[in-house]
Formats: sequence, C-alpha cells, structure tokens
Amino acid sequence: MRAAVFEKQGLDNLNVKDVQQPTIADYDVLIKVRAAGVNPIDYLTVSNIPGIKPLPHIPGVEVTGVIEKVGNHVTTLKEGDKVVVYNVIFDGTCDMCLNGYEMLCRNAGILGVITNGGFADYISASEKNVFKIPDNLQWDVAASLATTTKTPYHALREASLKLNEFLVIFGASGNTGMMAVQFGKKMGAKVIAVSKDNWIKTDFGADYIISDYDKVVEQVKDITQGKMADVVLNSLGANTWENSFSCVGANGRLVTFGGLTGADVKLNVQSLYRKQIKLIGSNGSTRKEFREVIDMSKELKVRVWKRFKLEDAKEALQALFAKERDGRILLDINNDI
Ligand SMILES: [Zn+2]
Repeated sequence: MRAAVFEKQGLDNLNVKDVQQPTIADYDVLIKVRAAGVNPIDYLTVSNIPGIKPLPHIPGVEVTGVIEKVGNHVTTLKEGDKVVVYNVIFDGTCDMCLNGYEMLCRNAGILGVITNGGFADYISASEKNVFKIPDNLQWDVAASLATTTKTPYHALREASLKLNEFLVIFGASGNTGMMAVQFGKKMGAKVIAVSKDNWIKTDFGADYIISDYDKVVEQVKDITQGKMADVVLNSLGANTWENSFSCVGANGRLVTFGGLTGADVKLNVQSLYRKQIKLIGSNGSTRKEFREVIDMSKELKVRVWKRFKLEDAKEALQALFAKERDGRILLDINNDI
C-alpha cells in the first residue's frame, strides 16, 4: 500500500512510498482510509516530538474510512462500515480507564504517534477504538471528528459551560475553534469569537466577533456590560495568554488544550483568587464524549481550505502554517470509496 513514511524525524524525510499493508490481530479491524485530517500534532510527529514508534513511521492522528476486514473476535463492526478512529491508545485496565478517562490512561499514547497513523491507504486499529459513523456523513466532517471536534467539546464540558453564559473563543476560525463555536451555540452560550474571519459569524453562528486582538479585553467588557466572560477558551498559548486571562470575569473559567505559540505563561495569583477564577487543562476526550460527538456529527460543519493527495502529505503539513490559511487541511485518500 501507499503511505507517507519517515525513517528519521524531519519534514524533508517524509516520503510517500510502498510499504507493507498492516496485519490485524483477533480484536483489530483493517480500515481502508478515505480521508485524514492534517493537524499540528502530525507536523510535530514528523518534526521533533520524542517517543515516536514504530520507525519507520506513518503519521496521521485523525482518520476516517471504511472497514475492509475484521479480526476473528470482532463483534460490533463489519466489512463495509463507515468508521472513525478514537485516537487514544489506552489499556482499559488502569484506574483512569476504569473511571472512564481513557485519554488519561496511565499507559496512554496517541494513535499516529506511538503507533502508525492514517497517512496511508490502510490502517489497523483495535475494535475498542473504532466507531461507526452515519452512512451519509460528509467525509470532511468525519475526518475532523477524532481531534478537531472531540477536543473542544470535552474542553467546554470540563469548563461546565451553561445556558446563557458568555463564552470567548480565541482562534475561533482555527480547526478546533470553528467546532468550539458550534458547540458553544448548542450549549446555549453567547459566543464571542476572536478572529479576523467574518465567516465564523455568518456561517458558523458566533454571536459576536472581535477582529482586533489589541482591543479584545475592551470589547469583551463592552459586550458583557462590564461583567467579562464566564468561560474563555484559549488554546493558542503564550501570545494570547494575558489577553485571554483578562477576559475572564468573576467565578469564570479559563480552559486550554494547546500552546501552539508557546507553553510558558505568566500568572498573577492575586487576580486568580480575587475573582475566584478556575484554570482548567483539558486533554482530548473520553470515548463516551467521542460517541456523543459522532451522534451530533450530522449537525456540524467544517470549513475546508485545501485538500491534498496522499502523495503531497509533506506540502499539506507545510500548508498548516500558511498565512493565508482559511479553514482545514485534509488528505484525500482512496476517493473511489
Ligand atoms: Zn488505562
């Protein structure tokens, strides 16, 4: 089969070549990949994050396709099912798993990082990681469930977002941001999107848009009539940290699941306790939440900026950082299925 593969980390070392098709064990399924989301974590996997295995390695944490073959003991899936892969590898036996927090498994890892990923014609995965999706779900949305969609959903659940609360989303037109806007609306919040892209309001339903980063705090103050936000979602990291923290109101929550612009931030302890602010770290989602996201998937939309062929996986990863990027990047694979 074809796969984007590297033997040594470094974007220049990623090449598409013929490799052996994965084999499956009794509890595994073989999936013919239809599409793969292109995410910053894939870029980091190829570039420099430690602990990658196996080598040579196929990246790709976000994958959807059709079941080609099932192992002898697989009972819930069959050939021809359209599926997505829950991309946390977990043991199912530790205290975190038993409490339903698979992503916090004491032996957790990410599919595509500690196993081969979806930038290939085929991928194998354990039955417990593979979920059926609606037959007529758009592949664009399906290819966006495993990371782009489940992550902000879990984050807003962790932040206990409530009906009629003000939610400020930094990077609202980014991959996870556009999904966070839609979940914020579904949860009944008043969504303030921080973004230069007006489509996040016109097409995705944000109630307010703030396009000038330098005026975020002042504009949130105007919109909320001085109360500031109940929940702020900021996964951009250091560059926007101060502004995002200043947007949180009394008893508010700041939730984050990323630090793309840098992970080290300053914190003024007084401003944290005086307003009784809660800082919340959020990581992926549980399988239960992934199931909930799949159940809502037909009501969700995704803005795709560019589709690349598997052969152009390197260019697709580079395009993540294009200034003109305006929506998601996907790999279109096996588009005959
Ligand atoms: Zn576990």
